[in-house]
Amino acid sequence: MPGLSYEEIIAEPQSLVSDTELYGTLQKVFGFREFRPDQERIIRAILEKKDVFAVMPTGGGKSLCYQLPAVLLPGTCMVISPLISLMKDQVDSARSNGIHAAYLNSSLSAEEQSLVLNDLLSNSLDLLYAAPERFTLNHFQEMLGQVNISMVVIDEAHCISEWGHDFRPDYLSLSSLVTLFPAVPVTAFTATATHKVQQDILDKLKLRSPFIVRASFDRTNLFYDIRFKENISKQLVTLLKNNPNKAGIIYRTSRKSVNETATMLQAKGFRALPYHAGLNEDERKKNQEAFIRDEADVIVATIAFGMGIDKSNIRFVIHADLPKSIENYYQETGRAGRDGEPAQCIMLFSQSDIPKVRFFIDTIVDETERTRALTALQKVISFASTTVCRRKTLLDYFGETYPHDKCNSCDICLGTREVVDCTVEAQMLLSAIARTEERFGATHIVDIVIGSKNKKIYDFGHDRLKTWGVGKDRSKKFWRLLIDELLAQKVIAKSEGLYPALYFLEKAVPVLKNEAKVEMVRIQEKKTAKRKRIEETGTYDNDLFELLRALRKQLADEQGIPPYIVFSDRSLRDMAALLPRSPEDMLSVSGVGEVKLQRYGKQFLDLIRRYCEEHPEQTKQP
Ligand code: ADP
Ligand code: ZN
Repeated sequence: MPGLSYEEIIAEPQSLVSDTELYGTLQKVFGFREFRPDQERIIRAILEKKDVFAVMPTGGGKSLCYQLPAVLLPGTCMVISPLISLMKDQVDSARSNGIHAAYLNSSLSAEEQSLVLNDLLSNSLDLLYAAPERFTLNHFQEMLGQVNISMVVIDEAHCISEWGHDFRPDYLSLSSLVTLFPAVPVTAFTATATHKVQQDILDKLKLRSPFIVRASFDRTNLFYDIRFKENISKQLVTLLKNNPNKAGIIYRTSRKSVNETATMLQAKGFRALPYHAGLNEDERKKNQEAFIRDEADVIVATIAFGMGIDKSNIRFVIHADLPKSIENYYQETGRAGRDGEPAQCIMLFSQSDIPKVRFFIDTIVDETERTRALTALQKVISFASTTVCRRKTLLDYFGETYPHDKCNSCDICLGTREVVDCTVEAQMLLSAIARTEERFGATHIVDIVIGSKNKKIYDFGHDRLKTWGVGKDRSKKFWRLLIDELLAQKVIAKSEGLYPALYFLEKAVPVLKNEAKVEMVRIQEKKTAKRKRIEETGTYDNDLFELLRALRKQLADEQGIPPYIVFSDRSLRDMAALLPRSPEDMLSVSGVGEVKLQRYGKQFLDLIRRYCEEHPEQTKQP
């Protein structure tokens, strides 16, 4: 072979694993028939001993990308993961599929640690999770020298970048991994990386001609919905009533509002618990555990919540206040529906929240930080105010072009927002602003339009204005809303200072002259038929589903693991739809591999059989 050196010939990718072996393991160990997008390419690259860098959204199925090769390759796969709580979850989940997995971190006693190290030294582990700081310990590095390491995984790789939102100095030491493990693939995974962060990660980790994958950030099972925030308590209660027994997170900005909302929901009989950094550690842990174990349905939390949890069956995420940035919004909503089942992301948005956030931003001392926060806020506001498909806007933010005009899975595309022409009403407001020489704030302008008889109106003689009382047949609230809308559409603006006055922007004059229209979005609170359909995809027996859920909970409690590790919501739904009668039937349920069949198959099959006997009509097989 002229022109090719010996090294190049042996470096030729060799397919070590046949399709039968690959798909066989997928089915046997994980219980899945197909790969999610990009999983197969990543796995094949790893099996060809290539370094890999993969950006995949939350719920994209990153774990499988390395757990499957970890099973197939001889030796131990080292996973570096930043969070203790996640390690345990990942290990529980791998073990539930029969994979030999363990973790090493400070939560283990010295005795437990030495047991794990023994397993490692005897090469009996497929997977070992460890925190990054361990790699700075010489004796740990030496020990790794004595074992057969099959590959290295850096989970949450964005933690190495100062540009990301989760920088961890510990992660910087990971740049020596490629020298420490010259002969095995080093792979890095993250769910959040703008192109800038991506480049930074690649530079810092020094991966060797890595196979790079940027999966689509489109979370197709998430429904994005932004609603007008009117009466937050009432809206939350309605939302929870519409989602009985479903797990969800409600994000709020302040600790105080978290407490208030949680207390309010508890008083209404919902299983809701608070979570924020002001609670003591025990309480935080207790509340988080209750949520993970399906004992509380709803967690009301500040953004301190979510990083350390892997709960896959979260069915809704509600932002009751403005998120800090689009990245935050994407990450926080991303915690819904990791299992791939439909989930809702609802933001309650009101222009009147903006001053509060501005106030906090103004207290940031560092100027660059302050500017960054302000720009981020403005992007969130324009995201919430736009009439373009939410999905398209979000993907656009991450530099991805959504190939369609409509996604049909957001409030904009489904047209659940009703647009009404408010040009005449806008003219009334603008006229009031003009006639008072752009010197008054929103409250006073509304008072003029509704014909208020308060002292300030008389003091200024504003009861003699032509616009005084022209809008008295509409509510104060309507006028406030319209002012918000005019601000959002940049028809008018608000001056800085203690008493901000409304003033004209360029667009105001054309509106007054009837040359431009003003439309306002009215949000219908009623469910549309279409939206209902999204929530109820697939036909399955709901009563049976609830029974299966109860059994899952019981088995999970017996073993001290979260319910979603026993079976995912998807698996239970499949069972309630397919009504498996035999172990073979059971294997065709998504997420049921051989180990899970052996562990839980009988109990679930018994329950299904009993249910079918008791409900012959409902469960007749076609
Ligand atoms: P990530 O770490 O990317 O957020 P996970 O690895 O936790 O995602 O996977 C999310 C969910 O998707 C898990 O419940 C997992 O079992 C499921 N999953 C992963 N791969 C597949 C697949 N090929 N088919 C069906 N479900 C899958
Ligand atoms: Zn859309």
